[in-house]
Amino acid sequence: MELDKIIGQSELVGYLKRLITHDLVGHAYALSGPEGIGKKTLARAFAKDLLCQNPNSYNCNCISCRTFNSGTNPDFFQVVSDKKSIGVDSIRELQDHAAHRPTYGNRKVYLIPDAELMTPQAQNCLLKTLEEPPKYVIIILLTTNFEALLPTIQSRTVNLRMTPYSDEEMRMIVGSRHNIPNDQWEFILRFSSGIPLNAIRMIEEGAITDLRAQVFQLFEKSDDLNYIENFRKTLLDNRENIPAVFDILLSVYRDCLVLKLGMEDRLINSDKKGIIKHIASSYQKHNLFEKIANLERMRRNFSYNINLQLGIDTLLLEIQEV
Ligand SMILES: [Zn+2]
Repeated sequence: MELDKIIGQSELVGYLKRLITHDLVGHAYALSGPEGIGKKTLARAFAKDLLCQNPNSYNCNCISCRTFNSGTNPDFFQVVSDKKSIGVDSIRELQDHAAHRPTYGNRKVYLIPDAELMTPQAQNCLLKTLEEPPKYVIIILLTTNFEALLPTIQSRTVNLRMTPYSDEEMRMIVGSRHNIPNDQWEFILRFSSGIPLNAIRMIEEGAITDLRAQVFQLFEKSDDLNYIENFRKTLLDNRENIPAVFDILLSVYRDCLVLKLGMEDRLINSDKKGIIKHIASSYQKHNLFEKIANLERMRRNFSYNINLQLGIDTLLLEIQEV
């Protein structure tokens, strides 16, 4: 089965396989979960297996699988999303397609990515198909926000939630696409929250890596007032970076503690061991616990929308204060 190639999501994958092998497939499913968790990859594997003529074989080469791989399987239809909205015309096109019987087997699969972007009219139009689906039709909605769909759509759809991946699964998924030095893994895993796309963006775009470099510079240039002032301005202009700055700072102080406890191999920022050692040398263990508690309290306050400028000033003072 194509589903056997999916890494992680084992409970969900097992459930989908049972649906197929016991012939219990319903008419409408939603795969929901954060952006970048792999909804489309899983949905396409499920669709391919639903359409396959020998779903129990590995690397099947039936006509349905062959055409699926080349993007020409006439029993598979994917609604086009421009990431802004999905209008009623797109759903009518799906319905026209669904009006014809399957070409190869006894199923047709319809994939709707970004389903939360369907306009209310589009959803009401889709509802007609969900209420009286042709018996061969299976609809798979992909969504980051299942609750944003109309209640009438929700109640006719089985919602399957995808969950973040374990560190080991992340290493397999992300590691198969990128060659990552060993000492950077901990940091990537810690900041990607079990979502492969987060990790891949960190690697490809380097945004958080840049931010991390800037935060480390704060420690290295702790007496360079110009640098601190520039960092302050950057944060004021990019307040969306503030949660990540807190995460990075917390990881630094946590690492200092870890060093003091003699657990060098457990560092998150293991590629920055030199600087961490230097920072750690200025603190006693109890100061570090205090520092971490202070930062956690400040992070909570930030989410209550305190005066931004004052908040950033307090944060920078906290970092400078030993
Ligand atoms: Zn096949």
